[in-house]
Amino acid sequence: MVYDILILGGGPAGLAAALYAKRAGVSVLVLEKTIYGGQVVNTPTVENYPGIQTITGVDLAMALHDQVTGLGVEVRMEEPLSYRLDADPKVVTTAKGSYEARTVILANGVKRRQLGCPGEERLAGRGVSYCATCDGAFFAGKETAIVGGGNTALEDALFLSNHCTRVHLIHRRDAFRGSDILARAVEKRENITIHYDTVVEEIRGEDRVTSLGLKNVKTGEETDLPVAGVFVAVGLAPDNGAFAGQVELDQAGYIKAGEDCRTSLPGVYAAGDTRTKAVRQIVTAAADGAVAALGAAGVAGTVK
Ligand code: NAP
Repeated sequence: MVYDILILGGGPAGLAAALYAKRAGVSVLVLEKTIYGGQVVNTPTVENYPGIQTITGVDLAMALHDQVTGLGVEVRMEEPLSYRLDADPKVVTTAKGSYEARTVILANGVKRRQLGCPGEERLAGRGVSYCATCDGAFFAGKETAIVGGGNTALEDALFLSNHCTRVHLIHRRDAFRGSDILARAVEKRENITIHYDTVVEEIRGEDRVTSLGLKNVKTGEETDLPVAGVFVAVGLAPDNGAFAGQVELDQAGYIKAGEDCRTSLPGVYAAGDTRTKAVRQIVTAAADGAVAALGAAGVAGTVK
């Protein structure tokens, strides 16, 4: 079978695209390689999705998934291994087979950025984590650290402070990048200690994390901070190497596509965090999904 639209990625962008594609009456398949919801599942609570006062990231991911599958959209848990995006029809191959489609929506999201300091790779999964929501409960009653100054680090610090005796929030500058409302909440939380102007030079421990080697970038002072775990929340990075040479990428590695989500290759759209854009939020990812699906379905501007 040749699908009308093949969607790569089951986060808010991909699932919103599936919703709009299905309602536009075209055939659609979603491929997701790991877990539905994308970065959303790493978010303890979502409080800025219009119409929903508060919801956990996992519940929002489930709701997106259930809405799409409830409509009868075909979703498969398979990892794309190769792509022929300039072919007609376009072909995406997984370990289980090849899928053909007239159009493809790349909604593959981003990956978590690493710190790149000594000890990080060696102790990953042994005290070094990239997901507070997933791993936070393992550190109940212990002292932990979180690195970063964006909304993820701020939200994670608040989340961890509910489980841990103390949370050290380590940020390389003297002002947070994340939203004011979260920053104020973090400052008020008694068991969060903020270390401004501080970088992690080394993650220490034999079999498990036992401490962090910190350096104050203004004073040059070096300290050893004993912690049982460290959560890295230093942002996101594009994961588009597999598409290089097929669709144009910007200098940072994001897929070049404007508000219409059209890439440099006809019939190939990019939606959500994977494309060049100013604001990476759940709501803008979902909006991209709608735009890309309606464009791909050839019914842009028609609301069904
Ligand atoms: P982000 O906003 O890019 O913040 C990354 C943070 O990590 C920055 O504070 C940055 O420092 C720091 N950083 C980067 N590289 C570093 C390094 N090598 N060493 C130490 N620190 C480093 O990333 P994010 O917090 O993951 O958020 C990603 C996107 O999702 C953002 O658009 C964010 O608003 C959104 N998001 C929104 C919500 C929400 O609205 N509730 C929740 C989570 C995420 P500098 O500040 O110095 O650059």
